[in-house]
Amino acid sequence: MSADAVVIGAGVSGLTTAVCLAEAGMRVRVDTDRFPGATTSAAAGAMWDPYLAEPSEAVERWSRTTLSELVALSVGEDTGIRIVEGTQESRIPCAMPGWSGLVGGRPCTPEELRRGFVAGWHYRAPLVDMPRYLHYLARRLAKEGGSIRRHRYDTVEETRREAPVVVNCSGTGARALADDPSVEAVRGQLVVVENPGIESFFCDGTPGADELTYIYPHARTVVLGGTSDRGNWSLSPDEEEARRIIARCAAVEPLISGARILEQRVGLRPARTRIRLTEEHHGDRLLVHNYGHGGAGLTLSWGCAREVAERIRRVIAATT
Ligand SMILES: Cc1cc2nc3c(=O)[nH]c(=O)nc-3n(C[C@H](O)[C@H](O)[C@H](O)COP(=O)(O)OP(=O)(O)OC[C@H]3O[C@@H](n4cnc5c(N)ncnc54)[C@H](O)[C@@H]3O)c2cc1C
Repeated sequence: MSADAVVIGAGVSGLTTAVCLAEAGMRVRVDTDRFPGATTSAAAGAMWDPYLAEPSEAVERWSRTTLSELVALSVGEDTGIRIVEGTQESRIPCAMPGWSGLVGGRPCTPEELRRGFVAGWHYRAPLVDMPRYLHYLARRLAKEGGSIRRHRYDTVEETRREAPVVVNCSGTGARALADDPSVEAVRGQLVVVENPGIESFFCDGTPGADELTYIYPHARTVVLGGTSDRGNWSLSPDEEEARRIIARCAAVEPLISGARILEQRVGLRPARTRIRLTEEHHGDRLLVHNYGHGGAGLTLSWGCAREVAERIRRVIAATT
């Protein structure tokens, strides 16, 4: 297919962007060196939660747009999205985050707090089974005639002859691809266990906590997290880390201790001082960057993708 737009990357940023462009009538091809199931996006937990991403004003806007989309999609059976309730709790007094109002946040009653926690809030938010959700996005893209091709680029210049519009959604790959040393990997590991009957999520939101602890219940499985290790590019699971994740989660939720381990997942959060959502004009070609979403790629996905699509629409409208 000769494409109007090539999207580099088949993670949540690339697939969502490709869907937006295809649904706007463009012929879209996704070029990626890893298929969706092998991306960082597939490794994520994943809750709607604006974590580890800047700049805050745009993050708030993009998160809000994404929240509406995910809530709307949660009614479909094949999307992998469910609205789940639960608590974020802290071992020291702290205020609710600014975005709590978007998800119906209210302070926890003392009875709701787990042992060792002194503050917390209760809310309902989208919880996404990422491998299923990425398949859903790929199917939605295919329905509009879009395709996914296994292909690796070494530099963005190599895309020159591929299409008049290229969108770079390469996550941590942007460090080499866009020659951007400000992109850093923040390695995350989590453990998937059989669900022993947990229905509500839990997240340790203690400010300045050394380690991440979260419990995300999907229908049949529970995702246990996690780690956040800046500058570590290893994709191999670490057995000792897995043991400590399970121990931390079991200390909060005893049902976890007997649960059967199904899988370990590792991903590299694409961290950057600020998300790069910018455009470059090279003659009559347009290159749009959409990467650096840190720990919030799912949370920002629809907001960023819609903004990319709108920018492309405006450029095309101005030149035709
Ligand atoms: C353990 C963990 C838990 C997380 N939990 C959450 C959560 O609860 N909520 C949330 O919102 N976010 C969460 N995140 C963060 C989220 O996963 C990332 O922000 C998101 O996956 C980034 O998506 P992306 O599409 O930009 O990058 P990726 O998913 O990394 O995709 C990048 C794509 O680009 C391709 N690519 C890269 N370089 C090249 C190249 N040179 N040529 C061709 N293709 C290339 C790759 O093959 C891949 O397809 C979590 C992350 C981790 C690791």
